[in-house]
Amino acid sequence: MTIAVWILGDQLLACHPALAPYQEDKARVRVVILESQARLRRLPYHRKKLVLLVSAMRHYAGYLRANGWQVDYRIAADALSGLKAQVAEQRPEWLETMAASEYRGRLFQHSLPERLGIPIRVLANTQFLSGRYDPFPDAGGRQRVVMENYYRRMRRHFRLLMSEDGEPIGGRWNYDAQNRKPLPKEIAAPAFQRFEADEITRQVMLEIEQAGVGTGEASGFDLAVTHAQAQQALQDFLDHRLGLFGAYEDAMSAEQAVLFHSRLSPYLNLGLLEPLDVARRAEERYLMGNAPINSVEGFIRQVVGWREYIYWQYWRLMPDLERQNFWQAQRRLPEFFWNGETQMDCLRHAIQRALKDGYTHHIERLMVVANFCLLAGVDPQEVNAWFLSSFVDAYEWVMAPNVFGMGLHADGGMVGTKPYIASANYINKMSDYCQGCIFDHRQRTGAEACPFNYLYWNFLIEHESQLRANPRMGPNVLGLSRLDGDERRRIQAAAQQFLEALE
Ligand SMILES: Cc1cc2nc3c(=O)[nH]c(=O)nc-3n(C[C@H](O)[C@H](O)[C@H](O)COP(=O)(O)OP(=O)(O)OC[C@H]3O[C@@H](n4cnc5c(N)ncnc54)[C@H](O)[C@@H]3O)c2cc1C
Repeated sequence: MTIAVWILGDQLLACHPALAPYQEDKARVRVVILESQARLRRLPYHRKKLVLLVSAMRHYAGYLRANGWQVDYRIAADALSGLKAQVAEQRPEWLETMAASEYRGRLFQHSLPERLGIPIRVLANTQFLSGRYDPFPDAGGRQRVVMENYYRRMRRHFRLLMSEDGEPIGGRWNYDAQNRKPLPKEIAAPAFQRFEADEITRQVMLEIEQAGVGTGEASGFDLAVTHAQAQQALQDFLDHRLGLFGAYEDAMSAEQAVLFHSRLSPYLNLGLLEPLDVARRAEERYLMGNAPINSVEGFIRQVVGWREYIYWQYWRLMPDLERQNFWQAQRRLPEFFWNGETQMDCLRHAIQRALKDGYTHHIERLMVVANFCLLAGVDPQEVNAWFLSSFVDAYEWVMAPNVFGMGLHADGGMVGTKPYIASANYINKMSDYCQGCIFDHRQRTGAEACPFNYLYWNFLIEHESQLRANPRMGPNVLGLSRLDGDERRRIQAAAQQFLEALE
Protein backbone atom coordinates (compact mmCIF):
# COMPACT_ATOMS: atom_id res chain seq x y z
CA MET A 1 0.00 0.00 0.00
CA THR A 2 1.14 3.54 -0.71
CA ILE A 3 0.69 6.95 0.87
CA ALA A 4 -0.48 10.10 -0.90
CA VAL A 5 1.23 13.32 0.15
CA TRP A 6 -0.68 16.43 -0.92
CA ILE A 7 1.61 19.47 -1.12
CA LEU A 8 -0.22 22.79 -1.27
CA GLY A 9 0.77 25.42 -3.82
CA ASP A 10 2.10 27.87 -1.22
CA GLN A 11 4.06 25.17 0.67
CA LEU A 12 6.90 24.56 -1.75
CA LEU A 13 9.44 23.85 0.96
CA ALA A 14 12.85 22.48 0.04
CA CYS A 15 12.49 20.06 2.99
CA HIS A 16 8.80 19.33 3.28
CA PRO A 17 7.83 17.75 6.64
CA ALA A 18 5.42 15.29 4.99
CA LEU A 19 8.25 13.88 2.88
CA ALA A 20 11.05 13.87 5.44
CA PRO A 21 10.04 10.52 7.10
CA TYR A 22 10.03 8.71 3.75
CA GLN A 23 13.44 9.76 2.45
CA GLU A 24 14.61 6.13 2.56
CA ASP A 25 11.32 4.73 1.34
CA LYS A 26 10.35 6.97 -1.54
CA ALA A 27 8.61 4.23 -3.50
CA ARG A 28 5.86 4.18 -0.85
CA VAL A 29 4.85 7.74 -1.57
CA ARG A 30 3.06 9.51 -4.37
CA VAL A 31 3.16 13.27 -4.11
CA VAL A 32 0.13 15.08 -5.45
CA ILE A 33 0.29 18.73 -6.47
CA LEU A 34 -3.00 20.29 -7.54
CA GLU A 35 -3.57 23.19 -9.84
CA SER A 36 -7.15 24.02 -8.84
CA GLN A 37 -8.87 26.07 -11.51
CA ALA A 38 -11.47 27.25 -8.98
CA ARG A 39 -8.78 28.51 -6.59
CA LEU A 40 -6.98 30.42 -9.33
CA ARG A 41 -10.28 32.11 -10.19
CA ARG A 42 -11.54 32.87 -6.68
CA LEU A 43 -10.72 36.58 -7.17
CA PRO A 44 -9.49 38.58 -10.17
CA TYR A 45 -5.85 37.95 -9.16
CA HIS A 46 -2.98 39.78 -10.80
CA ARG A 47 -1.74 37.65 -13.67
CA LYS A 48 1.87 37.98 -12.49
CA LYS A 49 0.79 36.40 -9.21
CA LEU A 50 -0.92 33.55 -11.04
CA VAL A 51 2.17 33.01 -13.18
CA LEU A 52 4.39 33.04 -10.09
CA LEU A 53 2.26 30.51 -8.27
CA VAL A 54 1.68 28.10 -11.14
CA SER A 55 5.19 28.28 -12.51
CA ALA A 56 6.70 27.78 -9.04
CA MET A 57 4.42 24.76 -8.50
CA ARG A 58 5.42 23.20 -11.82
CA HIS A 59 9.11 23.83 -11.13
CA TYR A 60 8.67 22.32 -7.70
CA ALA A 61 7.19 19.15 -9.22
CA GLY A 62 10.36 18.94 -11.34
CA TYR A 63 12.55 19.51 -8.27
CA LEU A 64 10.85 16.65 -6.40
CA ARG A 65 11.09 14.28 -9.38
CA ALA A 66 14.79 15.11 -9.75
CA ASN A 67 15.14 14.09 -6.10
CA GLY A 68 13.57 10.70 -6.72
CA TRP A 69 9.93 11.31 -5.73
CA GLN A 70 6.95 10.16 -7.78
CA VAL A 71 4.81 13.21 -8.45
CA ASP A 72 1.29 13.42 -9.83
CA TYR A 73 0.76 16.96 -11.04
CA ARG A 74 -2.97 17.40 -11.58
CA ILE A 75 -4.88 20.21 -13.21
CA ALA A 76 -8.34 19.91 -11.67
CA ALA A 77 -11.58 21.87 -11.58
CA ASP A 78 -11.15 22.23 -7.81
CA ALA A 79 -9.09 20.70 -5.01
CA LEU A 80 -11.71 18.15 -4.01
CA SER A 81 -12.15 16.70 -7.48
CA GLY A 82 -8.36 16.57 -7.88
CA LEU A 83 -7.95 14.67 -4.62
CA LYS A 84 -10.82 12.33 -5.45
CA ALA A 85 -9.16 11.51 -8.76
CA GLN A 86 -5.88 10.86 -6.94
CA VAL A 87 -7.51 8.53 -4.42
CA ALA A 88 -9.44 6.66 -7.12
CA GLU A 89 -6.29 6.12 -9.16
CA GLN A 90 -3.70 5.51 -6.46
CA ARG A 91 -5.86 3.88 -3.74
CA PRO A 92 -3.53 5.14 -0.97
CA GLU A 93 -3.66 3.84 2.57
CA TRP A 94 -3.94 7.41 3.84
CA LEU A 95 -3.28 11.00 2.77
CA GLU A 96 -0.73 13.25 4.43
CA THR A 97 -0.56 17.00 4.16
CA MET A 98 0.83 19.98 6.04
CA ALA A 99 -1.70 22.30 7.72
CA ALA A 100 -2.72 25.09 5.36
CA SER A 101 -1.66 28.61 6.32
CA GLU A 102 -5.13 29.88 5.44
CA TYR A 103 -8.24 29.35 7.53
CA ARG A 104 -10.57 28.04 4.81
CA GLY A 105 -7.84 25.72 3.53
CA ARG A 106 -7.42 24.20 6.97
CA LEU A 107 -11.16 23.65 7.40
CA PHE A 108 -11.14 21.91 4.03
CA GLN A 109 -8.26 19.65 5.08
CA HIS A 110 -10.11 18.59 8.22
CA SER A 111 -13.23 17.77 6.20
CA LEU A 112 -11.31 15.38 3.95
CA PRO A 113 -11.60 12.05 5.82
CA GLU A 114 -15.34 12.14 5.32
CA ARG A 115 -15.20 13.41 1.75
CA LEU A 116 -12.46 11.07 0.55
CA GLY A 117 -13.26 8.07 2.70
CA ILE A 118 -9.64 7.52 3.79
CA PRO A 119 -7.69 8.66 6.89
CA ILE A 120 -5.90 12.04 6.66
CA ARG A 121 -2.87 13.12 8.68
CA VAL A 122 -2.59 16.91 8.88
CA LEU A 123 0.94 17.75 10.01
CA ALA A 124 1.86 20.94 11.88
CA ASN A 125 2.79 23.86 9.66
CA THR A 126 6.57 24.39 9.75
CA GLN A 127 6.60 27.28 7.33
CA PHE A 128 6.41 29.87 10.10
CA LEU A 129 8.62 30.28 13.15
CA SER A 130 5.52 30.82 15.27
CA GLY A 131 4.58 27.22 14.46
CA ARG A 132 7.76 26.15 16.26
CA TYR A 133 7.60 28.58 19.18
CA ASP A 134 4.59 30.51 20.48
CA PRO A 135 5.81 33.53 22.46
CA PHE A 136 2.37 34.08 24.04
CA PRO A 137 0.76 30.64 24.35
CA ASP A 138 -1.71 31.80 27.00
CA ALA A 139 -2.92 34.98 25.32
CA GLY A 140 -6.71 34.86 25.45
CA GLY A 141 -9.09 35.91 22.67
CA ARG A 142 -9.22 39.69 23.15
CA GLN A 143 -5.97 40.10 25.10
CA ARG A 144 -3.77 42.72 23.44
CA VAL A 145 -0.26 41.61 22.55
CA VAL A 146 1.86 44.32 21.01
CA MET A 147 4.27 43.53 18.20
CA GLU A 148 7.32 44.87 20.08
CA ASN A 149 6.89 42.37 22.95
CA TYR A 150 6.21 39.54 20.54
CA TYR A 151 9.31 40.43 18.53
CA ARG A 152 11.60 40.58 21.56
CA ARG A 153 10.56 37.11 22.66
CA MET A 154 11.15 35.78 19.14
CA ARG A 155 14.62 37.35 19.06
CA ARG A 156 15.46 35.84 22.45
CA HIS A 157 14.14 32.41 21.56
CA PHE A 158 15.83 32.16 18.17
CA ARG A 159 18.93 33.98 19.45
CA LEU A 160 18.95 36.57 16.72
CA LEU A 161 21.19 39.60 17.28
CA MET A 162 21.59 38.58 20.92
CA SER A 163 24.73 38.69 23.03
CA GLU A 164 25.92 35.78 25.16
CA ASP A 165 24.39 37.34 28.28
CA GLY A 166 20.95 37.61 26.69
CA GLU A 167 21.03 41.31 25.79
CA PRO A 168 20.25 42.72 22.34
CA ILE A 169 23.46 43.22 20.37
CA GLY A 170 24.21 46.93 20.00
CA GLY A 171 22.48 47.61 23.31
CA ARG A 172 19.03 48.38 21.87
CA TRP A 173 16.05 46.45 20.59
CA ASN A 174 14.93 49.14 18.24
CA TYR A 175 16.61 51.54 15.80
CA ASP A 176 13.40 53.03 14.39
CA ALA A 177 14.56 56.58 15.03
CA GLN A 178 17.40 56.07 12.51
CA ASN A 179 15.07 54.43 9.99
CA ARG A 180 12.78 57.25 8.96
CA LYS A 181 14.81 59.19 6.44
CA PRO A 182 13.41 60.56 3.20
CA LEU A 183 15.45 59.70 0.11
CA PRO A 184 17.97 62.40 -0.87
CA LYS A 185 17.80 63.33 -4.58
CA GLU A 186 21.32 62.04 -5.30
CA ILE A 187 20.70 58.50 -4.00
CA ALA A 188 19.52 55.83 -6.41
CA ALA A 189 18.97 52.27 -5.29
CA PRO A 190 20.78 49.61 -7.34
CA ALA A 191 18.57 47.76 -9.81
CA PHE A 192 17.23 44.53 -8.31
CA GLN A 193 17.81 41.19 -9.95
CA ARG A 194 15.24 40.13 -12.54
CA PHE A 195 14.80 36.56 -13.73
CA GLU A 196 14.19 35.70 -17.33
CA ALA A 197 11.20 33.45 -17.97
CA ASP A 198 12.23 29.90 -18.95
CA GLU A 199 10.17 27.51 -21.07
CA ILE A 200 7.92 26.42 -18.20
CA THR A 201 7.19 30.01 -17.19
CA ARG A 202 6.56 31.09 -20.77
CA GLN A 203 4.08 28.24 -21.17
CA VAL A 204 2.28 29.28 -17.97
CA MET A 205 2.16 32.91 -19.15
CA LEU A 206 0.59 31.79 -22.39
CA GLU A 207 -1.99 29.61 -20.67
CA ILE A 208 -2.98 32.33 -18.22
CA GLU A 209 -3.34 34.92 -20.95
CA GLN A 210 -5.29 32.56 -23.23
CA ALA A 211 -7.62 31.50 -20.42
CA GLY A 212 -8.40 35.17 -19.77
CA VAL A 213 -8.13 34.52 -16.04
CA GLY A 214 -7.02 37.30 -13.67
CA THR A 215 -6.27 40.98 -14.27
CA GLY A 216 -3.15 42.95 -15.17
CA GLU A 217 -0.46 41.68 -17.50
CA ALA A 218 1.61 38.54 -17.32
CA SER A 219 4.15 40.02 -19.71
CA GLY A 220 7.19 41.51 -18.03
CA PHE A 221 7.13 38.72 -15.43
CA ASP A 222 10.57 38.66 -13.82
CA LEU A 223 10.20 36.87 -10.50
CA ALA A 224 12.11 33.87 -9.14
CA VAL A 225 10.26 30.56 -9.45
CA THR A 226 12.73 28.08 -7.95
CA HIS A 227 14.61 27.74 -4.65
CA ALA A 228 17.87 28.48 -6.41
CA GLN A 229 16.56 31.67 -7.97
CA ALA A 230 14.97 32.78 -4.69
CA GLN A 231 18.41 32.30 -3.07
CA GLN A 232 19.90 34.52 -5.76
CA ALA A 233 17.26 37.17 -5.05
CA LEU A 234 18.18 36.98 -1.35
CA GLN A 235 21.88 37.25 -2.14
CA ASP A 236 21.20 40.24 -4.39
CA PHE A 237 19.35 42.00 -1.58
CA LEU A 238 22.06 41.24 1.01
CA ASP A 239 24.85 42.37 -1.31
CA HIS A 240 23.29 45.50 -2.74
CA ARG A 241 20.38 46.84 -0.70
CA LEU A 242 20.51 45.65 2.91
CA GLY A 243 23.10 48.31 3.84
CA LEU A 244 20.67 51.18 3.28
CA PHE A 245 17.47 49.23 3.98
CA GLY A 246 17.12 50.74 7.44
CA ALA A 247 17.79 54.37 6.64
CA TYR A 248 15.31 54.53 3.73
CA GLU A 249 12.81 51.93 4.86
CA ASP A 250 9.98 54.48 5.07
CA ALA A 251 11.00 56.62 2.09
CA MET A 252 8.86 56.79 -1.06
CA SER A 253 9.95 57.86 -4.51
CA ALA A 254 8.12 58.61 -7.75
CA GLU A 255 11.05 57.20 -9.72
CA GLN A 256 11.97 54.11 -7.71
CA ALA A 257 9.41 51.57 -6.58
CA VAL A 258 11.55 49.07 -4.69
CA LEU A 259 14.25 51.36 -3.28
CA PHE A 260 16.26 49.35 -0.72
CA HIS A 261 13.50 46.87 0.10
CA SER A 262 14.11 43.16 -0.29
CA ARG A 263 11.18 42.22 -2.56
CA LEU A 264 11.39 38.77 -0.93
CA SER A 265 7.81 38.43 0.34
CA PRO A 266 6.60 36.42 -2.70
CA TYR A 267 9.28 33.78 -2.04
CA LEU A 268 8.87 33.66 1.72
CA ASN A 269 5.12 33.23 1.32
CA LEU A 270 5.49 30.36 -1.16
CA GLY A 271 8.07 28.47 0.87
CA LEU A 272 10.87 29.13 -1.60
CA LEU A 273 12.75 30.92 1.19
CA GLU A 274 12.78 30.01 4.86
CA PRO A 275 12.32 32.93 7.31
CA LEU A 276 14.95 31.88 9.86
CA ASP A 277 17.52 31.32 7.15
CA VAL A 278 16.76 34.76 5.69
CA ALA A 279 17.07 36.40 9.11
CA ARG A 280 20.34 34.59 9.92
CA ARG A 281 21.86 35.53 6.60
CA ALA A 282 21.09 39.20 7.35
CA GLU A 283 22.48 38.84 10.89
CA GLU A 284 25.68 37.39 9.44
CA ARG A 285 26.17 40.59 7.43
CA TYR A 286 26.15 42.62 10.62
CA LEU A 287 28.44 40.20 12.47
CA MET A 288 30.92 40.32 9.55
CA GLY A 289 30.83 44.12 9.66
CA ASN A 290 29.20 44.40 6.23
CA ALA A 291 25.93 46.07 7.16
CA PRO A 292 24.93 48.54 9.90
CA ILE A 293 22.88 47.51 12.90
CA ASN A 294 19.91 49.78 12.07
CA SER A 295 19.46 48.06 8.71
CA VAL A 296 19.97 44.52 9.94
CA GLU A 297 17.81 44.93 13.02
CA GLY A 298 15.17 46.74 10.93
CA PHE A 299 15.07 43.90 8.42
CA ILE A 300 14.99 41.14 11.05
CA ARG A 301 12.18 43.06 12.78
CA GLN A 302 10.16 42.79 9.55
CA VAL A 303 10.78 39.09 8.95
CA VAL A 304 10.83 37.65 12.47
CA GLY A 305 8.77 40.40 14.10
CA TRP A 306 6.04 41.70 11.82
CA ARG A 307 5.64 38.74 9.49
CA GLU A 308 5.38 36.17 12.29
CA TYR A 309 3.24 38.42 14.46
CA ILE A 310 0.83 38.89 11.56
CA TYR A 311 0.52 35.11 11.05
CA TRP A 312 0.11 34.56 14.79
CA GLN A 313 -2.60 37.23 15.01
CA TYR A 314 -4.39 35.75 11.99
CA TRP A 315 -4.82 32.41 13.72
CA ARG A 316 -5.82 34.06 16.97
CA LEU A 317 -8.43 36.35 15.45
CA MET A 318 -9.96 34.29 12.68
CA PRO A 319 -12.69 33.83 11.58
CA ASP A 320 -14.05 37.04 13.19
CA LEU A 321 -11.23 39.17 11.88
CA GLU A 322 -12.62 39.35 8.36
CA ARG A 323 -15.96 40.63 9.65
CA GLN A 324 -14.57 43.53 11.70
CA ASN A 325 -15.60 47.10 10.90
CA PHE A 326 -14.76 49.27 13.91
CA TRP A 327 -15.42 52.59 12.10
CA GLN A 328 -18.58 51.31 10.37
CA ALA A 329 -17.06 52.19 7.00
CA GLN A 330 -19.48 51.47 4.16
CA ARG A 331 -18.14 53.25 1.05
CA ARG A 332 -17.57 51.27 -2.10
CA LEU A 333 -13.98 51.06 -3.33
CA PRO A 334 -13.48 53.89 -5.84
CA GLU A 335 -13.25 52.86 -9.48
CA PHE A 336 -9.76 54.33 -9.86
CA PHE A 337 -8.35 51.48 -7.78
CA TRP A 338 -8.81 49.34 -10.90
CA ASN A 339 -7.31 51.76 -13.43
CA GLY A 340 -5.08 54.11 -11.44
CA GLU A 341 -6.79 57.18 -12.83
CA THR A 342 -6.65 59.65 -9.98
CA GLN A 343 -5.08 63.10 -9.88
CA MET A 344 -3.52 62.48 -6.49
CA ASP A 345 0.08 61.73 -7.47
CA CYS A 346 0.97 59.53 -4.50
CA LEU A 347 -2.11 57.38 -4.84
CA ARG A 348 -1.76 57.15 -8.61
CA HIS A 349 1.85 55.96 -8.34
CA ALA A 350 1.08 53.37 -5.68
CA ILE A 351 -2.01 52.00 -7.43
CA GLN A 352 -0.40 51.95 -10.86
CA ARG A 353 2.60 50.08 -9.44
CA ALA A 354 0.28 47.51 -7.91
CA LEU A 355 -1.69 47.17 -11.14
CA LYS A 356 1.46 46.84 -13.24
CA ASP A 357 3.71 44.61 -11.14
CA GLY A 358 1.69 43.59 -8.10
CA TYR A 359 4.21 45.28 -5.82
CA THR A 360 4.56 48.44 -3.80
CA HIS A 361 6.63 48.61 -0.68
CA HIS A 362 5.17 48.67 2.81
CA ILE A 363 4.85 52.41 3.37
CA GLU A 364 2.95 52.89 0.13
CA ARG A 365 0.59 50.06 1.06
CA LEU A 366 0.12 51.42 4.57
CA MET A 367 0.49 55.19 4.50
CA VAL A 368 -0.82 55.92 1.03
CA VAL A 369 -3.33 53.26 -0.05
CA ALA A 370 -4.68 51.98 3.28
CA ASN A 371 -4.47 55.46 4.82
CA PHE A 372 -6.63 56.78 2.00
CA CYS A 373 -9.17 53.96 2.40
CA LEU A 374 -9.35 54.50 6.15
CA LEU A 375 -9.81 58.27 5.87
CA ALA A 376 -12.33 57.89 3.03
CA GLY A 377 -14.34 55.28 4.95
CA VAL A 378 -14.05 52.48 2.41
CA ASP A 379 -15.62 49.16 3.43
CA PRO A 380 -12.81 46.95 4.85
CA GLN A 381 -14.03 43.89 2.94
CA GLU A 382 -13.69 45.74 -0.35
CA VAL A 383 -10.22 46.97 0.57
CA ASN A 384 -9.19 43.46 1.55
CA ALA A 385 -10.45 42.01 -1.73
CA TRP A 386 -8.59 44.64 -3.74
CA PHE A 387 -5.30 43.99 -1.93
CA LEU A 388 -5.77 40.23 -2.24
CA SER A 389 -6.34 40.54 -5.96
CA SER A 390 -3.64 43.05 -6.73
CA PHE A 391 -0.42 41.92 -5.04
CA VAL A 392 1.91 39.12 -6.05
CA ASP A 393 2.65 38.26 -2.42
CA ALA A 394 -1.00 38.23 -1.28
CA TYR A 395 -2.50 35.36 0.75
CA GLU A 396 -5.40 35.43 3.15
CA TRP A 397 -3.29 34.90 6.27
CA VAL A 398 -1.16 37.95 5.55
CA MET A 399 -3.87 40.18 4.12
CA ALA A 400 -6.55 40.01 6.78
CA PRO A 401 -4.37 41.21 9.72
CA ASN A 402 -2.63 43.80 7.53
CA VAL A 403 -5.83 45.23 6.07
CA PHE A 404 -8.44 44.80 8.84
CA GLY A 405 -5.81 45.28 11.55
CA MET A 406 -2.81 47.37 10.68
CA GLY A 407 -4.09 49.28 7.64
CA LEU A 408 -7.68 50.13 8.62
CA HIS A 409 -7.79 49.51 12.38
CA ALA A 410 -11.13 47.85 11.64
CA ASP A 411 -10.35 45.32 14.40
CA GLY A 412 -10.48 48.09 17.01
CA GLY A 413 -6.79 47.75 17.87
CA MET A 414 -5.91 44.08 18.22
CA VAL A 415 -3.07 44.16 15.66
CA GLY A 416 -1.95 47.80 15.83
CA THR A 417 -2.15 49.95 18.93
CA LYS A 418 -3.39 53.00 17.01
CA PRO A 419 -4.82 53.77 13.58
CA TYR A 420 -2.13 54.62 11.02
CA ILE A 421 -3.58 57.87 9.74
CA ALA A 422 -1.67 60.80 8.29
CA SER A 423 -2.28 64.00 6.38
CA ALA A 424 -0.35 65.17 3.30
CA ASN A 425 2.34 66.50 5.60
CA TYR A 426 3.65 62.98 6.25
CA ILE A 427 3.51 61.99 2.58
CA ASN A 428 5.36 65.15 1.60
CA LYS A 429 8.02 64.56 4.26
CA MET A 430 8.69 60.99 3.18
CA SER A 431 8.37 61.29 -0.61
CA ASP A 432 8.80 63.49 -3.65
CA TYR A 433 5.20 62.94 -4.78
CA CYS A 434 3.79 66.25 -3.65
CA GLN A 435 6.25 68.25 -5.76
CA GLY A 436 4.63 67.17 -9.02
CA CYS A 437 1.04 66.99 -7.78
CA ILE A 438 -1.76 69.36 -8.78
CA PHE A 439 -2.91 69.41 -5.15
CA ASP A 440 -1.22 71.54 -2.55
CA HIS A 441 0.04 69.56 0.44
CA ARG A 442 0.07 72.72 2.61
CA GLN A 443 -3.58 73.65 2.21
CA ARG A 444 -6.25 72.17 4.42
CA THR A 445 -9.27 73.39 2.49
CA GLY A 446 -9.92 75.18 -0.79
CA ALA A 447 -9.96 74.01 -4.39
CA GLU A 448 -6.25 73.14 -4.45
CA ALA A 449 -5.98 71.52 -1.04
CA CYS A 450 -4.68 67.95 -0.96
CA PRO A 451 -7.60 65.60 -0.23
CA PHE A 452 -5.43 63.82 2.34
CA ASN A 453 -5.62 67.00 4.43
CA TYR A 454 -9.36 67.54 4.65
CA LEU A 455 -10.01 63.79 4.80
CA TYR A 456 -7.59 63.50 7.70
CA TRP A 457 -9.15 66.34 9.69
CA ASN A 458 -12.63 65.19 8.79
CA PHE A 459 -11.78 61.73 10.15
CA LEU A 460 -10.58 63.25 13.42
CA ILE A 461 -13.76 65.30 13.75
CA GLU A 462 -16.02 62.39 12.89
CA HIS A 463 -14.35 59.91 15.23
CA GLU A 464 -13.18 62.30 17.93
CA SER A 465 -14.64 60.43 20.88
CA GLN A 466 -13.24 57.03 19.80
CA LEU A 467 -9.84 58.58 19.11
CA ARG A 468 -9.73 60.39 22.44
CA ALA A 469 -10.15 57.03 24.14
CA ASN A 470 -6.85 55.86 22.62
CA PRO A 471 -3.90 57.21 24.64
CA ARG A 472 -1.57 56.92 21.61
CA MET A 473 -3.76 59.33 19.62
CA GLY A 474 -3.18 62.25 22.02
CA PRO A 475 -1.11 64.47 19.70
CA ASN A 476 -3.53 63.92 16.80
CA VAL A 477 -6.69 64.84 18.68
CA LEU A 478 -4.89 67.73 20.36
CA GLY A 479 -4.72 69.37 16.92
CA LEU A 480 -8.52 69.42 16.83
CA SER A 481 -8.72 71.89 19.67
CA ARG A 482 -6.99 74.43 17.43
CA LEU A 483 -9.81 74.31 14.85
CA ASP A 484 -12.62 76.82 15.27
CA GLY A 485 -16.20 76.09 14.25
CA ASP A 486 -15.88 77.67 10.78
CA GLU A 487 -12.75 75.70 9.94
CA ARG A 488 -14.42 72.49 11.07
CA ARG A 489 -17.39 73.22 8.80
CA ARG A 490 -15.11 74.01 5.84
CA ILE A 491 -13.22 70.75 6.37
CA GLN A 492 -16.37 68.70 6.59
CA ALA A 493 -17.86 70.34 3.50
CA ALA A 494 -14.68 69.74 1.47
CA ALA A 495 -14.54 66.11 2.58
CA GLN A 496 -18.19 65.54 1.81
CA GLN A 497 -17.87 67.05 -1.66
CA PHE A 498 -14.81 64.93 -2.43
CA LEU A 499 -16.39 61.73 -1.15
CA GLU A 500 -19.62 62.33 -3.04
CA ALA A 501 -17.66 62.86 -6.23
CA LEU A 502 -15.95 59.49 -5.66
CA GLU A 503 -19.31 57.79 -5.95
C1 LIG B 1 -2.42 47.00 3.67
C2 LIG B 1 -1.24 46.09 3.62
C3 LIG B 1 -1.25 44.99 2.79
C4 LIG B 1 -0.16 44.10 2.78
N1 LIG B 1 -0.21 43.00 1.99
C5 LIG B 1 0.77 42.07 2.04
C6 LIG B 1 0.70 40.87 1.29
O1 LIG B 1 -0.24 40.65 0.56
N2 LIG B 1 1.70 39.97 1.40
C7 LIG B 1 2.77 40.21 2.20
O2 LIG B 1 3.65 39.34 2.26
N3 LIG B 1 2.87 41.33 2.91
C8 LIG B 1 1.90 42.27 2.86
N4 LIG B 1 2.01 43.41 3.59
C9 LIG B 1 3.19 43.61 4.45
C10 LIG B 1 4.35 44.33 3.75
O3 LIG B 1 3.89 45.54 3.20
C11 LIG B 1 4.97 43.48 2.65
O4 LIG B 1 5.37 42.25 3.21
C12 LIG B 1 6.21 44.11 2.05
O5 LIG B 1 5.90 45.38 1.53
C13 LIG B 1 6.78 43.20 0.97
O6 LIG B 1 7.82 43.83 0.29
P1 LIG B 1 9.35 43.46 0.57
O7 LIG B 1 9.52 42.00 0.43
O8 LIG B 1 10.18 44.33 -0.31
O9 LIG B 1 9.47 43.85 2.09
P2 LIG B 1 10.69 44.38 2.99
O10 LIG B 1 10.41 45.79 3.35
O11 LIG B 1 11.97 44.08 2.36
O12 LIG B 1 10.50 43.54 4.34
C14 LIG B 1 11.06 42.25 4.52
C15 LIG B 1 10.01 41.20 4.75
O13 LIG B 1 9.33 41.43 5.98
C16 LIG B 1 8.03 40.84 5.90
N5 LIG B 1 7.05 41.82 6.38
C17 LIG B 1 7.26 43.10 6.69
N6 LIG B 1 6.14 43.67 7.16
C18 LIG B 1 5.19 42.72 7.14
C19 LIG B 1 3.82 42.70 7.50
N7 LIG B 1 3.19 43.78 7.98
N8 LIG B 1 3.14 41.56 7.31
C20 LIG B 1 3.75 40.45 6.82
N9 LIG B 1 5.05 40.42 6.46
C21 LIG B 1 5.76 41.55 6.64
C22 LIG B 1 7.79 40.44 4.46
O14 LIG B 1 7.93 39.05 4.34
C23 LIG B 1 8.91 41.14 3.71
O15 LIG B 1 9.34 40.45 2.57
C24 LIG B 1 0.95 44.34 3.60
C25 LIG B 1 0.96 45.47 4.42
C26 LIG B 1 -0.13 46.33 4.44
C27 LIG B 1 -0.10 47.51 5.35
